[in-house]
Amino acid sequence: MFTLPDLDYDYSALAPHIAAEIMELHHSKHHQAYVTGANTAWDKLAEARDTGNFATVAKLEKDLAFNLGGHINHSLAWKNMSPDGGGEPVGALAEAIGEGFNGFATFKKQFTEVAMTIQGSGWSVLAWDVCGSRLSTFQQYDHQGNLPAAQIPLLVLDMWEHAFYLQYRNVKADYVAAWWNVVNWADVAARYEKARAQAGGLL
Ligand code: MN
Repeated sequence: MFTLPDLDYDYSALAPHIAAEIMELHHSKHHQAYVTGANTAWDKLAEARDTGNFATVAKLEKDLAFNLGGHINHSLAWKNMSPDGGGEPVGALAEAIGEGFNGFATFKKQFTEVAMTIQGSGWSVLAWDVCGSRLSTFQQYDHQGNLPAAQIPLLVLDMWEHAFYLQYRNVKADYVAAWWNVVNWADVAARYEKARAQAGGLL
């Protein structure tokens, strides 16, 4: 069973960058709904196996992909933010971003553009490309679409309207600019170290 993880900080801790009202609804309602949905999909797949009735299997797999994506993405997103965040990465992650994106400033521009140009709901993602042994960015549609294969997510930015609309209305650029102030680079760096251990050997 998937469960809703506690946050490491209070709902109000990311203000003024992310308002407490957004954090509370986002975590306790939206994220919870994905947890429930993922568990339901697993349960119904088990039921299909038990009864031998696989008529709904395609729908259940879609439900699982969407809801488990929502659960994983949000779990990561909460850890990727911190009231003590912001600034720039240091150490090995900083070096990899520097090499992979022609410096941090260019990375920030690229990641922001990835976020700003998503059509509809989705996520901007920085990931470890396992086969290429390098960092990559991509647009994740909804919670689960448009992923290049074999990517381990390190840093995710929620570009669904529920993530910003109560505070920033339609001005996505202000939301993204504020979000950079709460990025937990220590968390991203720890994920980078773990992800690099998965390098290569898949193909
Ligand atoms: Mn969300």
